[in-house]
Amino acid sequence: MRLKLGRPDLAQYAHRFDVPAANGDFAVTFLGVSTLLFEDGGSAVMTDGFFSRPSLAKVGLSKIAPDQARIDAALARCEPVRLQGIVPLHTHFDHVLDSAVVAEKTGALLIGGESAANVGRGAGLPEDRLRVVATGESLRLGAFTLTWVESDHCPPDRFPGPINAPVVPPAKAKDYRCGEAWSLLLEHISGRTALIQGSAGYIPGALASHRADVAYLSVGQLGVQDEDYIRTYWAETVQTVGAKSVVLIHWDDFFRPLDMPLRALPYAGDDLDVTMRIFAQLAADQSVELHLPTVWHREDPWASLR
Ligand SMILES: [Zn+2]
Repeated sequence: MRLKLGRPDLAQYAHRFDVPAANGDFAVTFLGVSTLLFEDGGSAVMTDGFFSRPSLAKVGLSKIAPDQARIDAALARCEPVRLQGIVPLHTHFDHVLDSAVVAEKTGALLIGGESAANVGRGAGLPEDRLRVVATGESLRLGAFTLTWVESDHCPPDRFPGPINAPVVPPAKAKDYRCGEAWSLLLEHISGRTALIQGSAGYIPGALASHRADVAYLSVGQLGVQDEDYIRTYWAETVQTVGAKSVVLIHWDDFFRPLDMPLRALPYAGDDLDVTMRIFAQLAADQSVELHLPTVWHREDPWASLR
């Protein structure tokens, strides 16, 4: 097999960066990897909250810790209003590294499995700011209802297993083990429903009883799976919940800071071109919208469905 160097050029997908802009108080803002801010002016929830984005050298060679300046800059720019919950979708560092700090700075609850709670404890969050949920559980947070459904991580999971003790930063990247990998179902009182898939994994049939109009799908590492896996991932998520619009997340190179233009993950770890080719065909065949979100933009993917 020929080794591909470099990375996919996002310019070829320029036409996919077309999620409708938010027109009013309700908005979803993509903030890199699988960090998403959902808000309606009166309340808000956020997945992951990963803003530090330490360099590859730092992740590989030394310990990592939340970068207060980068977190402050990101929160100042996206300005979450009355953030009720911060929800790590699993506990690898590119999801959970900053979750506890964001919870602490905003007053939000940190909500997830026991592994996420142990990241919160390691960061010094008091117990009354932690909420541990089990699969199938729902929580009402302001105008949002969230439901957690156990899922799986995309292979290969570099740091598998639960986090059984508090992680005190600075820590090694490998200390942020995967923990619980969630499919998150979100429902807003406006009737908007979404599936947020934090990693390109699945448990067959796990989402069978759930519906969502929009699917935010993580695609990191998906492009290096075989075509059968990629098609099954789509079927177990998009088709199973009946989504009419798909917005792809977790395609950006997260070793680059958020104040620089996003670029795709290198071919060494993923191949977005493969994912886009297969997903474009599935979306066209099934009359499903396929989008890429624009970082920092307040968007409303439901707007084109009405
Ligand atoms: Zn992961």
